[in-house]
Amino acid sequence: MLFCRCLVLTITLCYCGAAFHVATDKLSSKSLKGINMISRTKVVLIKCGSYDFQEILPAVERLFTALGGIQTFVRAGQTVLLKPNLLSSHRPDEAVTTHPEVVRALIRLVKQAGATPIVADSGASAINIESIWEKTGFRALCAEEAVPLLNLEKAGSRHFDFNGIPFSIAKPVLEADVVISVPKLKTHVLTVITNAVKNMYGTIPGYQKTMLHKQFHDPVSFGRFLASLYAIVKPSLTVSDAIIAMEGNGPSNGNPVHYGFLAASSDGVALDTLVCHWLKINPRRVPYFSFLKESGAGETQWQAIDVAGDSPSQFPFRPMKLPSVFIGKTAPAWLYHWLGPLLWIRPLMNERCTACGLCVRSCPVSALTLIKGKPPVLIPHQCIQCCCCHEVCPAGAVILQQSLLMRLVHHPSRLKEWITRLLRSTR
Ligand code: SF4
Ligand code: SF4
Repeated sequence: MLFCRCLVLTITLCYCGAAFHVATDKLSSKSLKGINMISRTKVVLIKCGSYDFQEILPAVERLFTALGGIQTFVRAGQTVLLKPNLLSSHRPDEAVTTHPEVVRALIRLVKQAGATPIVADSGASAINIESIWEKTGFRALCAEEAVPLLNLEKAGSRHFDFNGIPFSIAKPVLEADVVISVPKLKTHVLTVITNAVKNMYGTIPGYQKTMLHKQFHDPVSFGRFLASLYAIVKPSLTVSDAIIAMEGNGPSNGNPVHYGFLAASSDGVALDTLVCHWLKINPRRVPYFSFLKESGAGETQWQAIDVAGDSPSQFPFRPMKLPSVFIGKTAPAWLYHWLGPLLWIRPLMNERCTACGLCVRSCPVSALTLIKGKPPVLIPHQCIQCCCCHEVCPAGAVILQQSLLMRLVHHPSRLKEWITRLLRSTR
């Protein structure tokens, strides 16, 4: 019985995969024919090889020059909230968080424009914001630059509702005159990439973010929520830190990769669109893109975006390695319902675990227990596969394991190989 179910599933997926590739090809040739030569959106790309401040400051100045000057976004007397990605406790060279030197350059330029910068974010979990500030270098940065560093957990929030599900956004983000988002470009096991759009999820106070994963634990519903959130907290400008990005099993357990650029736009959607185009990521795999397209939150067609600054041809962009584990659903929902128990992704704690308990406290459904200083134990049937434990672990000790069938679902080529071998062996 199980064998028959697997066979039906594999054949269906092969056809689905083939149909998807054909559809993608048709789509790209169609959109190429319809290129609109009048640009509506601008993304600036600037080469920057290292985090040496002497290199970053002129690079950020060039970004602003290409966008019409900092005065286009910031006026004297305004409060400017800089929103980096401070996901969890990692050193800047681990490429999990926005590098403080990029934010330092923005602080200096905002001050020069006569405005008041503040820095604020909320980590993946509310529990350890102080240690995040310490390890990421942001406490030191803000002390050196005499700039307030806000704890968005304690700064008050305003309530919103998304399809009957309540959530809050930190007040300082809503009340600042200008918001400049400063994401770190990374891969993400749930959303494929995290950059301009996903960075704004950090405007929701910490533990609430974790609990929202319980409501939106599949990539499609989470993508729909992210797109709606972005419409509320759309920043005036996004400056993406891709000098050293993260590929593989991001957002906290992947590998740093040197891309050597900063990119900026007043349209974060356009910025994410071009990043996908440059790094050969199919935007149809990014769960929030279709919702952004529907809502018209920004430009999702790379052909309609103007690139200013350095030419993309100067960069040896190599395709970004995507997560080997992907929580996204690539098969029809009825198949998941039918074969649910055989399609799973589960966290496994390896020897790096220090038994700090952070993942246990961050799990929205209490699927992890910690016993006498040992690595947490998973209660499999309780896990909703949200990957919060993977995101918050400061030791990179959470490995996401996939069932055999899940591996096959996410790799149609292996699936085809497997079917061929199976059919041969039954002849
Ligand atoms: S897996 Fe990571 S977060 Fe969880 S207890 Fe171990 S070190 Fe802490
Ligand atoms: S164990 Fe990890 S992946 Fe599973 S529900 Fe808890 S935080 Fe999410």
